Amino acid sequence: MKTKECPSCAMEVDAESKICPVCSYEFAETSTLARWTAILLVVVILLYLLF
Ligand SMILES: [Zn+2]
Repeated sequence: MKTKECPSCAMEVDAESKICPVCSYEFAETSTLARWTAILLVVVILLYLLF
């Protein structure tokens, strides 16, 4: 069984789980995309401020 670490309670939980069974933390499936969008936005703002 594949597992992943819960970022909230650091417990190994089933990789298929959407919600941590230990602390009810909700795993966001789109977190990676949202993070890259945020990084891109920061870069664009920095470039705008510099030039
Ligand atoms: Zn948890």
